[in-house]
Amino acid sequence: MKTVQEALELILAEAPPPRPAEVSLGEAPGCALAEDVVADMDLPPFDRAMMDGYAVRSGDPGPFEVVEEVPAGRVPSREILPGTCAKIMTGAPLPPGADAVQQVEKAVREGARVRLLEPVRPGQNVAPRGQEIRRGDLVLARGRRIGPAEAGALAAAGRARVRVYAKPRVALLVTGDELVPPGDVPGPGRIRNSNTFSLGAQVRELGLACDDLGVVGDDPAALRERIREGLRRDLLLISGGVSAGDRDYVLPALEAEGVRIRLHQVRIRPGRPFCFAPGVFGLPGNPVSSFVIFEVFVRPYLGRTMGLDLARPRVAARLETPVARPNERAQFLPAQVRFEGTGYAARAVPWAGSADLFALTRANGFLVVPPGATYEAGALVECMLL
Ligand code: AMP
Ligand code: MG
Repeated sequence: MKTVQEALELILAEAPPPRPAEVSLGEAPGCALAEDVVADMDLPPFDRAMMDGYAVRSGDPGPFEVVEEVPAGRVPSREILPGTCAKIMTGAPLPPGADAVQQVEKAVREGARVRLLEPVRPGQNVAPRGQEIRRGDLVLARGRRIGPAEAGALAAAGRARVRVYAKPRVALLVTGDELVPPGDVPGPGRIRNSNTFSLGAQVRELGLACDDLGVVGDDPAALRERIREGLRRDLLLISGGVSAGDRDYVLPALEAEGVRIRLHQVRIRPGRPFCFAPGVFGLPGNPVSSFVIFEVFVRPYLGRTMGLDLARPRVAARLETPVARPNERAQFLPAQVRFEGTGYAARAVPWAGSADLFALTRANGFLVVPPGATYEAGALVECMLL
């Protein structure tokens, strides 16, 4: 049975390489850039007023005659000569001759004239042309993840369309005869389906759409049909049916559909029985197990296919509670991790095992405990932050 590290290496090695595609800027957030983006002009494109006030010559003591008003979006028509100024709004181009703006609160208007309550320094409240970026400068390099700031910067740089690495199309198929929708009261022996919602949210958290292929019972023929549909996507996530039970049909159904399973069972707790083939993860039905496998393996896989590092950050934290029970598998224990003073502190949250989603709602990370390890309170332990 492979270790977590061995399994991760295999999964990343089998991930299909990122696929460049041109998209509109609105669709780009969440993707990595597939090109270097260079500024097509200086920004700001002109010397720009940073305050509402009066554009003056900085050496001029005034008082000033107001010769024009320049709102944002207009071009000044008058040169500022000694003894004159222009009323100017934030974002407007500075008139020729002026080299500073005094804010309106630090000036008094007396009819057509203005007096400054404080002198201005050269360049005060003015953003000179090209201060932010110059034509030809690199705005963002290939590989950069497009977040909110990057999306705005691309717009400012004139990129209505941009080459990115495409978002994979993900589908989610949930299996299990026992499952009822969350709005139903489960009959005898039944439980509510939670994985559609937790796994779907994990996919969407990455800015990806998740096609819901619904819930299929533990029936080989129905399973194969739904798997065939799911295999048309870039990634098919299947929940349940990958253990060694008599009615765990997912592996044989995948193989019958021509999928070559590359990995089955990993030394991880929870989540051991998961399986992987390029384009498919079979996740254990237990909600915390499927959650952990998504975080530890599916996220990095999706990242690799998008040209991004989507692995969750890891930090070292001082343990406030001991980890007494060793396991031959690496353990991911739901934990509260917080920054305190000069470093991180962590405590495991009470947890009833791989079905206990409620413990997960009280956690913001996992203690990552290597096989066989135990820790006393005060020890430094690796934590994965969600
Ligand atoms: P399985 O992996 O199919 O053997 O399921 C393992 C455990 O997880 C069983 O107790 C199932 O009832 C439970 N389970 C399976 N699928 C789901 C689901 N979608 N939501 C909540 N629990 C599930
Ligand atoms: Mg099942």
